[in-house]
Amino acid sequence: MKPGTLVISVILALLLWSSPAQAAAAVATGTTTTTIASLSSAGTLLDGQRVDFVGEAVGDIIDGGRDHKWLTLYEAGASISVFVSDAASRQVTNLGRYGVRGTTLEIRGVYHLACEEHQGLSDVHAITVKVLDEGGSTPSAINVRQLQVGLLLAGIGLLLLLLHWRLRERKR
Ligand SMILES: [Zn+2]
Repeated sequence: MKPGTLVISVILALLLWSSPAQAAAAVATGTTTTTIASLSSAGTLLDGQRVDFVGEAVGDIIDGGRDHKWLTLYEAGASISVFVSDAASRQVTNLGRYGVRGTTLEIRGVYHLACEEHQGLSDVHAITVKVLDEGGSTPSAINVRQLQVGLLLAGIGLLLLLLHWRLRERKR
């Protein structure tokens, strides 16, 4: 083996040895900024870790007992159950559905892949809940369609009224 090859081998070995350890240390300390989709596919990597993510409140707010509520947070096709205090849940002023944008929240909390407290549910127990956007009604295509149909019906009504007057004029 040439000395150059040996040096490269040693460097590679050191990199391979140190990288996973460093990655694990980064996860073990502090908060991991992530997405709901990443949480859904994280498996054991983020289990029990502090996470930080953003999502839109959708569906219903469900009573979780012990002065807590369940929120469903949605982002990019993925959703997660978030266990929050009653006080925090009151910050949600809109729940996303057709024509309504739900309140967008930034959640910091602890991710549980299979929560022991909640029958093995994958959830996040929120520590802080911050409102990024209150949400509200969104103009939808249906409303424009309804307006067009309304105008069309009004136009037909006016035409029938004119026709009625013309016919009555002729009878005189
Ligand atoms: Zn739980």
